[in-house]
Amino acid sequence: MHDKKSRVLILGGGFAGVYAALEFERRKDPDIEITLVNRDNFFLFTPMLHEIAASDLDITNIVNPVRKMLRHVDFFAGDVESIDLEKRAVVVSHGFDHHTHTLEYDHLVLALGSITNFFKIPGLEERAFTMKSLSDAIQLRNRLIGHLEEADTECAAKDREGLLTFVVAGGGFAGVETIASINDFLRDVLPFYPNLKPEMLRVVLVHPGEYILSELGEKLGRYADGKLRHRGVEVRCKTRVSGVTQREVQLDDGTRLTSFTLVWTAGASPNPTVDLLDCPKERGRLQVSEFLDVRTLSGVWAIGDCALVPDLTTGEFCPPTAQHAVREAKVLAHNIRAEIRGTPKKPFKFRTLGQLASIGRRTGVGQVLGIRFSGFLAWFLWRGIYWTKLPRVEKKVRVAIDWLLDVLFTKDFTQFMRPRAAVISIPAAAIDFSPIASPTEREAQREKINRIHHESARLNHYAHNNQSDTLPESPGIF
Ligand SMILES: Cc1cc2nc3c(=O)[nH]c(=O)nc-3n(C[C@H](O)[C@H](O)[C@H](O)COP(=O)(O)OP(=O)(O)OC[C@H]3O[C@@H](n4cnc5c(N)ncnc54)[C@H](O)[C@@H]3O)c2cc1C
Repeated sequence: MHDKKSRVLILGGGFAGVYAALEFERRKDPDIEITLVNRDNFFLFTPMLHEIAASDLDITNIVNPVRKMLRHVDFFAGDVESIDLEKRAVVVSHGFDHHTHTLEYDHLVLALGSITNFFKIPGLEERAFTMKSLSDAIQLRNRLIGHLEEADTECAAKDREGLLTFVVAGGGFAGVETIASINDFLRDVLPFYPNLKPEMLRVVLVHPGEYILSELGEKLGRYADGKLRHRGVEVRCKTRVSGVTQREVQLDDGTRLTSFTLVWTAGASPNPTVDLLDCPKERGRLQVSEFLDVRTLSGVWAIGDCALVPDLTTGEFCPPTAQHAVREAKVLAHNIRAEIRGTPKKPFKFRTLGQLASIGRRTGVGQVLGIRFSGFLAWFLWRGIYWTKLPRVEKKVRVAIDWLLDVLFTKDFTQFMRPRAAVISIPAAAIDFSPIASPTEREAQREKINRIHHESARLNHYAHNNQSDTLPESPGIF
């Protein structure tokens, strides 16, 4: 037994990291001190992310503040900058000035997930939307609404095709669920735009494989394909995106789609922080043993999407899914405790329970324990299962209420704008609203108001067309 506490440092607050911390917390070991580091102060429930983009759910209902989930774990909201495996120390940065701290550990858990990969396809990095984070979903939702607003105006008639063509790349779970839900959203709110007709909308799914949702097999993949087409989605299989410009999405069969919106869900890459580590990797994921430790490094463990975990039931490797990450987290917590206490470790052994996808309009597809489902039943199972998995009763209640309201009312298409409201900074005495103000003063006042309108329009236009958080420099009009 150690005379001082063992320090376990968990990097990453996604499914793998948070569930590992929860497991440590559940076991309440007085000899172990846990610290969790995550960039955001919340845990994101990714399976419901497309419901945010499609306005089915309120934007914060699928996230939980980490501090509400973990009461006895030290939480550090910051960025992992570097990991020194020799010194057993991790440098993290935080705050407005990104100052750094060094956190030391006895056991390090790498649970940093993966990031989106654009495969160096021209234009993607600058222009494509992604579907990985909460802000991705909010930005996409804003983009859809912004385009409908713009397309409805007479002066945008020449740009209507580009404004109303939405392309999603990737026919896996994230891509199919995203296209299905945004297609429903767009068609549901379209009647509120008097100048827009359903035939003006073009929603395109581009997928390199023979059929979509290949993880579920050909029969269900083709079923999902048929349902999407029936609802107006154009599914283009055996096709890849080859480039994106401001006005076009180019496909490798030579097609050029006039579109200002591409959502990229077609590639994942290992987390760059993990990539820098000098330890065995395959396809960028950290190779771990069946006990979830990095074989060549004592005290270093990896789970979730950043780890390549052997699947003892198939002889292959575990897929990067939340259901695996959560199970790995439990075994990891057991094994770290076992290592500290010198007791036997457990190998990770888990057979995939199944997979379900929602494909819009209360329809789903899925395979659970080898049984295939499709239609309303699959959708109902999707909702039921993920609802029970969503952490915390508060969020479960909020999501259930949102789903109920979604049945009773039409979708909310309020656009969340990021720029602050128009402001001005001039001495109060300089503004004279009285009717006795001289014509020259009134003219000067009118000029100021015009400038405010101009600046406001400029910022709004920028927010529509850019995804950067940084607003352009104001030309300093005031
Ligand atoms: C849209 C979408 C839908 C999905 N649907 C399903 C589904 O229905 N079922 C299913 O099983 N799986 C689904 N998945 C996959 C599932 O989300 C992942 O397999 C799972 O999130 C992996 O968990 P993780 O903890 O390894 O990684 P993540 O959940 O990605 O967590 C990694 C965490 O590390 C943090 N991080 C990364 N780098 C740093 C850094 N340098 N400093 C600080 N923090 C950092 C990130 O912010 C993040 O919080 C979906 C994924 C997406 C994107």
